Amino acid sequence: MFFYLHIPFCRQKCLYCKFALTPKFDELKIRTYIDALKREIEGFFISHPDTLIETIYFGGGTPSVLTSGQISEIIEVFREQKGFANVFEITLESNPEDITGEYLDALSELWVNRLSLGVQTLNGESLRVVGRADSNESIFRALDTIAKCSIENISIDLIAGLPGTVIGQTVSDLTEIFSCITPKHVSIYMLEDESYPLSWKPHLPSEEIVRSEYLSGMEWLQSKGFHRYELSNFAEPWFESRHNRSYWNHSNYRGFWLSSASFVGGERFINSPSFSGYYRGEKQSEGILSPESLRIERIMFGLRTSGVSLDEFDTVSTVEKFQREWLLKVRENRVFPTSTWIFLIDHIMGELI
Ligand code: SF4
Repeated sequence: MFFYLHIPFCRQKCLYCKFALTPKFDELKIRTYIDALKREIEGFFISHPDTLIETIYFGGGTPSVLTSGQISEIIEVFREQKGFANVFEITLESNPEDITGEYLDALSELWVNRLSLGVQTLNGESLRVVGRADSNESIFRALDTIAKCSIENISIDLIAGLPGTVIGQTVSDLTEIFSCITPKHVSIYMLEDESYPLSWKPHLPSEEIVRSEYLSGMEWLQSKGFHRYELSNFAEPWFESRHNRSYWNHSNYRGFWLSSASFVGGERFINSPSFSGYYRGEKQSEGILSPESLRIERIMFGLRTSGVSLDEFDTVSTVEKFQREWLLKVRENRVFPTSTWIFLIDHIMGELI
């Protein structure tokens, strides 16, 4: 099974962020939270003692605000389970300002074998405008440190089209990053419209520029041997995130802590997004997903990843219409969005289902 741990703490809240988190935390808050997490994990394994542990993913928030000792304490709970021998991937999301050589050495000893670094951009002005805690300097310092560390599987997060972005920013960022380290995985996100605070409006690049930033980043990565295995995710062969794939292929996954989603035995449920609700053990359940809901999700996830079997569609006439409009293509009985129209997936989905 795939395990997600949500760490809801950040040193500063970025202006575009919609995750459940708090920039106000102290030792006591972290201690209380870790204790609750340990109880939740232990409770899960008491009722599911034979579960194999395939991946553990520390996401957030900013998991790297935790010390290596705190991360060790959490991993230890998994290590005590018999299914731990099966673990393949332990990922920790991090922000550049938290990266030190000692920290990475300690993570490596704890079997953290995948580090995801939130760079977003190397444009210092954009970082400042969107309220990132990191600066251009702290990012380069982190990249230098990572270049010397023993964790081989490094993933970089970028955002195409932040306010203040200039044409060619994404390729310039990638070129600089790859001159410092050799990531195996890169995610390029595009902010959704509603994420923008109104004050950014005058500084935002046009939709065309955002799309062309994404596409030029994709082409650059492909020229380096990366392939796109999900709308926003690119990897060298064999370095696709095994954990993230579990969400898209309906594997069983269990999320712990605030606002984490789980899919176990066909049921999807979400922990409460508020601290008080979470500590009371509140969850929202969608119940067991119906065959129709699962089919819709297979279409939705399939269009974002490796395509959808034509057999999933009740009628192929809409697929054919989109094919004529060059929005979709069909190869060997599988349906994919065309590369330039991946931006219209939501519109296409709306008509397909
Ligand atoms: S560091 Fe990440 S999780 Fe934290 S506020 Fe910024 S975008 Fe959100």
